Amino acid sequence: MTTATAAQLSEPARKFIECPPDKLLIGEEWVDSASGETFETIDPATGEVICAVAKAGAEDVDRAVKAAQAALEGKWAKLPPAAREALMRKLADLIEENADELAELEALDNGKPVKFAKAVDVASAANHLRYYAGWPTKIEGETIPVSWPNAFVYTLKEPVGVCGQIIPWNFPLLMAAWKIAPALAAGCTVILKPAEQTPLTAIRLGQLVQEAGFPPGVVNVLTGFGDAGAAMVEHPGIAKIAFTGSTAVGREIGAKAGQMLKRVTLELGGKSPNIILPDADLEAAIKGAFMGIYFNTGQACNAGSRLFVHKDQYDTVVSALADAAKGAKVGPGLDESTQFGPVVSQEQYERVMSYIESGRQEGAEALAGGNGGNGGSDGYFIKPTLFTNVTDDMQIAREEIFGPVLVALPYEDLEEVARRANATEYGLAAGVWTRDVANAHKMAKLLKAGNVYVNVYAPADPAAPFGGYKASGIGREMGHANLDAYLELKTVWTSLT
Ligand code: NDP
Repeated sequence: MTTATAAQLSEPARKFIECPPDKLLIGEEWVDSASGETFETIDPATGEVICAVAKAGAEDVDRAVKAAQAALEGKWAKLPPAAREALMRKLADLIEENADELAELEALDNGKPVKFAKAVDVASAANHLRYYAGWPTKIEGETIPVSWPNAFVYTLKEPVGVCGQIIPWNFPLLMAAWKIAPALAAGCTVILKPAEQTPLTAIRLGQLVQEAGFPPGVVNVLTGFGDAGAAMVEHPGIAKIAFTGSTAVGREIGAKAGQMLKRVTLELGGKSPNIILPDADLEAAIKGAFMGIYFNTGQACNAGSRLFVHKDQYDTVVSALADAAKGAKVGPGLDESTQFGPVVSQEQYERVMSYIESGRQEGAEALAGGNGGNGGSDGYFIKPTLFTNVTDDMQIAREEIFGPVLVALPYEDLEEVARRANATEYGLAAGVWTRDVANAHKMAKLLKAGNVYVNVYAPADPAAPFGGYKASGIGREMGHANLDAYLELKTVWTSLT
């Protein structure tokens, strides 16, 4: 880390990095990885090393499973639901108390603007824990009126067991909270594996879990790179895997979990349509389209990456979007004035730039952006990019880019746009902009997506389920739908004779 970057950090964040955070949380202790290996985490704004973290392998996964199993059968199982609730609320309080430090660590490690990290990632992580903290005291079974004489039948809901949770790098702390909160509410124990690009806030979260007073082994944190994820999926002691990431890795995890009959939830890719109908409030729709794709530098699974605009409004909309994209302030996440940070890594930079190149080669025109810096030590900056002259069959219109790249496509009528919007292997999200309530509901019904946003793009609330149709995943995050994904249903029959 450069001295200039270090100077931008507050004392707590600087101390955390200097500590150094190169240990794994297994049970009650922070320990070296079994191999003693570490790996470096990189600042995407400079391409420089921030610090080294421990590199967990299969042996560490095994140690963490043992700790998580011991907690599951021991202290954690014995805690009354109200005590679980209190611990979760305490953790939410601690996240808020350390909001500045967490936001700085996130901005440094992921590249996102520190003000968004604080207002969105950190604040939502605390909210998420509080929402699920309300559930432990409300997990109820049922009595079942069976037709057998003299039988008393009821159901119990029990924790699934030890859960392996593989967290993505786009919202590192928030996705960790999305995953641990329902698991803890259900009474499960957790092994958390952050993405190798962004391990820092997960390590800090592990420290806060300890400070909150959770019994040892309830939450274990394994930073890993290259094989820890697969080792978790393959470990027989892990009952459930929750993964957020690419559809390709999701398929591998799903296949392995299927073979082992593990429970699994997968939150995967998207190529979400954002559709402006002719009767829309155009100003709001343009703002929604802009933030719908460029927020978080386009690194959001539900990013509105295909913009459909009626042919009569197409020129007006794309020219307004191009102006806004050209005026956007791209810079380091720690700079308060930054609107959009760099993409997360050199690998992601190259991936996104190669899509931009493929767009050009297939004949699309970059009305804005279309270029990055040099990558490497200049930081992984890519200007918000808007492509026109795009056809549905181009690679940039079909594949998830996961960067600040929008394709704008004209259409003529409602049925046509719904059909084209659905013509993708994905089905995570879709946006509709209209003033006509009938059209809004018609489109909401026609669109094959797990989340449909009308006159807004990508709001989220812990109570509202989130997840995908088709290759966008299996199961739902958030709401009681995700609580159920961490519970087994047991039916108890008792003879009364
Ligand atoms: P991936 O989706 O490919 O996932 C990498 C993570 O998965 C790491 O934690 C890795 O752990 C783990 N992993 C890899 N292989 C396996 C396996 N066989 N079994 C279990 N775990 C495994 O992330 P990338 O960073 O490579 O991103 C690639 C693309 O994924 C992006 O361009 C974007 O399109 C998409 N993505 C989607 C996200 C979303 O929110 N839906 C978030 C992030 C990325 P280990 O290192 O230990 O192997």
